[in-house]
Amino acid sequence: MVYFVGAGPGAKDLITLRGYNLLQKADVIIYAGSLVNPELLTYAKKECKIYNSATMTLEEVIKIMEDNHKENKITVRLHTGDMSIYGAVREQSDILREKNIPFESVPGVSSFIGSAAALNVEYTLPGISQTVILTRMAGRTPVPEKENIKSLAAHHASMVIFLSSGMMKELSQELISGGYSEDTPCAIVYKATWDDEKKVVTTLKHLAESDEKAGITKTALILVGDFLGSEYERSKLYDPFFTHEFRKGIDE
Ligand code: SAH
Repeated sequence: MVYFVGAGPGAKDLITLRGYNLLQKADVIIYAGSLVNPELLTYAKKECKIYNSATMTLEEVIKIMEDNHKENKITVRLHTGDMSIYGAVREQSDILREKNIPFESVPGVSSFIGSAAALNVEYTLPGISQTVILTRMAGRTPVPEKENIKSLAAHHASMVIFLSSGMMKELSQELISGGYSEDTPCAIVYKATWDDEKKVVTTLKHLAESDEKAGITKTALILVGDFLGSEYERSKLYDPFFTHEFRKGIDE
């Protein structure tokens, strides 16, 4: 049996209880070494075999899963954040399906959630935005043209940009040419929830310069949108005059 487990964004205690229990039970753990906090591996049992996938190919990862499955062993494939976001998990699960190796996914706290918590912000503010766009700049992995940052920016929704450190200048230019004003608030969150987390709140105009000043070159998310500003409307849900399934509003 193979379990794909979301490790969470960094802090050792932000893995789910289910993920934690599986780490304790695992005979083999294959973890994404570049971004998974190695402290999570201290939850493993003494005899557990541990592999760092950072230096491995897909074929090598699958071979380990297959060999261990033949011996009825439990493999945990530990992905950073949640594996459904830039996790390269589909190519693994498709091969496992072909090989009739059973697998299950256990979600994790994605870094975009960890980053919102680090800043104590809400992406979906009434009157500001009810949509979150998760995306990335094109790099060595291309992004389909229909999803270029400029066209996504036209929505003025709350945006989270992954995998784009080192491209701050191009990123801010794309966002501005897509329709965000230069004064739109944005934040860079480096290693959200890790001990060496850094967060910088700035505006699109100053994004590249703020990033450089903070010396952030990797493992960061860029959050963009007016949800980082001070204006919004009160929620209907907790409005004393609003009636819903669980509460009757006060009659005016
Ligand atoms: N599956 C992961 C994302 C993997 S892609 C998730 O759900 O978070 C790797 C990118 O995620 C990094 O380049 C960076 O942009 C972002 N990232 C991962 N962990 C992060 C963290 N703790 N803080 C900020 N960004 C992070």
